[in-house]
Amino acid sequence: MSQREFRLYDTLTRSVKPLVLAEPGHLRFYSCGPTVYSYAHIGNFRTFLTADLVVRTAQALGWRVSYVSNITDVGHLTSDDQDGGEDRMEKGLKSKEGEAFVNVWDLADYYADCFKEDWARLNLRRPLVWPRATQHMREQILAVEHLIERGNAYETPTGVYFSVASFPEYGKLSGNKDRENLFQAVRNVVQDDNKREPADFALWKKDDKHLMQWYSPWGWGFPGWHIECSVMAMQYLGETIDLHAGGEDLVFPHHECEVAQSECLTGKPFANHWIHTRFLQVDGAKMSKSLGNFFTVRDLVEGKGVDPLALRYALISVPYGKPLNFTMQTLRDATKNLERYRECERLAILALDRPDGADTIGAELDALFDATLDAMCDDLNTSVALAKALEGTGVVFRESASMGAASARSALRFLARIGDLLGFLVPRGDGPVETAAVAAFEDEPPALVIEMSERRLEAKRVKDFALADRLRLEIEEAGWEVRDTPEGPQFKRRMVPL
Ligand code: AMP
Ligand code: ZN
Repeated sequence: MSQREFRLYDTLTRSVKPLVLAEPGHLRFYSCGPTVYSYAHIGNFRTFLTADLVVRTAQALGWRVSYVSNITDVGHLTSDDQDGGEDRMEKGLKSKEGEAFVNVWDLADYYADCFKEDWARLNLRRPLVWPRATQHMREQILAVEHLIERGNAYETPTGVYFSVASFPEYGKLSGNKDRENLFQAVRNVVQDDNKREPADFALWKKDDKHLMQWYSPWGWGFPGWHIECSVMAMQYLGETIDLHAGGEDLVFPHHECEVAQSECLTGKPFANHWIHTRFLQVDGAKMSKSLGNFFTVRDLVEGKGVDPLALRYALISVPYGKPLNFTMQTLRDATKNLERYRECERLAILALDRPDGADTIGAELDALFDATLDAMCDDLNTSVALAKALEGTGVVFRESASMGAASARSALRFLARIGDLLGFLVPRGDGPVETAAVAAFEDEPPALVIEMSERRLEAKRVKDFALADRLRLEIEEAGWEVRDTPEGPQFKRRMVPL
């Protein structure tokens, strides 16, 4: 096991500090997942990718990782969308896309499946379990009962509320201690004159008209939003977890409320370390469904032919603690960098057939891998990590003409390790990393593209470079890239439209 420290910014102590594991070598990690009332957008995935990079870095350090990421499939009132507290699942069902579903359960299943598809497309590691709120109703009801028994919660005619006054540490995570004003910021807004304090938040809502309802000691209704994460984190990972993650908007109230409920239930710290991802932005504004300025993974991959691994590369290109403004240029840069890796891999595979020779690059690549891992251990500094990893491709290119099989194996090993750590190169069954690029360059383009390419070669032969450039652009507009090789032109489908 590596002796490195894995340092991460901790929202609770407001400092970068080493991740300390309660059980040495075993990380217990909970990350808040999506509400499945429509497709997750790439902003959501920026947050899930932070969790994925934590998992991958921890695994690179030799740690065992118990990673749990929930699926919120109960609708919750939200003021986040400035819609005055409409239930998200009901909203999904009433939307135009919602017409396709029989009921909210059906809708939740569909979007949960789509979410997992997009998760796989971006090559995120599968959690140990993807618990769903609707499948943990009994545990949530029991937790609410216990909170009432302990004096931390009380019943009113409309529901059960957590009493913020019963937990003096309320506000320690977000720094939001001004209780009088707290209710204004509460996403899970509940206006109820029977609440003891405006900041008290709902653990259970009585509602026999709600589309999703369960029978409880307080009659028909549904749970508050925060209780599901407390219950599921503790059920799968124990009473105190090492690390808890989510997007920046979850610090308050969601995570603050999780801390309050969990610590009142157990009398122990709930999570020892908290990380939050800054928002993905578009034109300087938060990417969100309500603003209509969002892309989904499927919009980009299916609609625009974007390579999902290039999308992944783009989304991790800026460290999670800084805002990332998403542009097509970010995606183009990512695609180019990914091409470098794939070209590098192609050259290394070709060199495997050569005599062994001396390994002239292994030590240099190992050092670059170490530098990449060091950057990841430095609060997931992905911009440095990606730069260090990319230097490795330069090393391989430098030696590619002369390298023998021994160096080629080192190159492939480097690519496999980088692929494991950063996730934008996918392992394949019969070798260390994906050869999609090799395969893509062997694709057969339509006759029109071949004909344009022949005219381009002729233009190059007679040194009419302006015409050759124009033809290259036309080939690109037709959706193909052409590359000249001694064996003739090779073609590849273009991934990102310019
Ligand atoms: P939701 O489906 O709204 O519960 O969000 C799922 C996760 O995505 C939460 O951790 C949010 O904080 C996070 N999230 C929402 N919008 C963005 C964004 N624009 N950039 C990064 N993370 C986001
Ligand atoms: Zn949560």
